[in-house]
Amino acid sequence: MLTYDQYVLAQSLNEVFDILDAKPASRILAGATDILPWARYGRAGDVHLSSVIDVSRVPELKYIQLNGSNIGFGANTTIADFQHNPILRKHAPVLSQCAVWFADDQIREQATVAGNVVNASPAGDSQPALLSLNTVIKLIRREQGKIVERTMPLLEFILGPSKTRLAEKELVLGFECDSILNYGSAYEKVGHRRSLVISTVCMAVVAKVAQAKGSIEDIRIGIGAVGPVPKRLYALEKRLMTQSITSQLIREIAEDASDEVQSRSRQEYRREVLVNFVERAIVSALNQAGMKLTRVGEEKLYA
Ligand SMILES: Cc1cc2nc3c(=O)[nH]c(=O)nc-3n(C[C@H](O)[C@H](O)[C@H](O)COP(=O)(O)OP(=O)(O)OC[C@H]3O[C@@H](n4cnc5c(N)ncnc54)[C@H](O)[C@@H]3O)c2cc1C
Repeated sequence: MLTYDQYVLAQSLNEVFDILDAKPASRILAGATDILPWARYGRAGDVHLSSVIDVSRVPELKYIQLNGSNIGFGANTTIADFQHNPILRKHAPVLSQCAVWFADDQIREQATVAGNVVNASPAGDSQPALLSLNTVIKLIRREQGKIVERTMPLLEFILGPSKTRLAEKELVLGFECDSILNYGSAYEKVGHRRSLVISTVCMAVVAKVAQAKGSIEDIRIGIGAVGPVPKRLYALEKRLMTQSITSQLIREIAEDASDEVQSRSRQEYRREVLVNFVERAIVSALNQAGMKLTRVGEEKLYA
């Protein structure tokens, strides 16, 4: 059970840092969709905190803005924002494709992107999509009265299940990622059941076709739930950007992607699913981006 001496609905960053300085045994909470099940179902045993600091009303953590070819969004951006915010829908549609698979309407309204990333579940759904956007995480702490910021690629931030580079008394301020206007994108997920499901495999692809239309200018593949940390498949991306694109090459790439499965449970199943997901997602993203392809063995239904 989770117990605490005080619950603070913080109204500013300074208020959050004041409490963290005064009571280090405090816990940050945003949407509470991870923390409450963690404590309530006894997964963490009995936890007593001096303070629970609810940061969901801190205005500095809630923003979504376009800066040239970059998008900035705050820690408190919700998964529902992925679906409904016009900037994200236009410039990072892979996030809304991911959100469709994420929990249900109620949870999506509460669940924040910072919570999903800091929780660092190997099955976290936002990570593959965020990695495909080259996302950088912005962290802040207060030193001698001043807010100090550091940034790092999201890929470096997540170290393992429930392990990140977040330091004590540090907060996630927000994220920055690439706009993928004029790219195609796809997101795939499977789990044990159809809804409210924990991923067994999840993945994202974003792709831009070169003007000549026969080759790929940029492609990024993020995978999750098949090992302790989410990954980018850089070597396979490079092959796709340097070789002639055929359905056969995409199938070979997809088969090679299955070597990335590290989870010990349901390994054969995960490998098979990953091959099919990678193939389908690449074909789908390239089709959206203007290159017409089919999957190996798949009949073309229309020209
Ligand atoms: C029914 C149900 C279904 C779910 N379905 C999915 C799903 O389909 N896919 C999926 O990936 N997840 C799912 N989840 C898990 C959860 O909803 C997500 O991980 C969510 O994004 C967590 O965000 P939150 O704001 O609720 O985090 P919280 O529970 O508030 O916090 C989670 C962690 O992040 C830390 N934290 C939050 N904000 C900050 C910040 N600004 N700075 C530093 N630390 C911070 C907290 O201290 C805590 O350690 C589900 C949960 C439930 C209950």
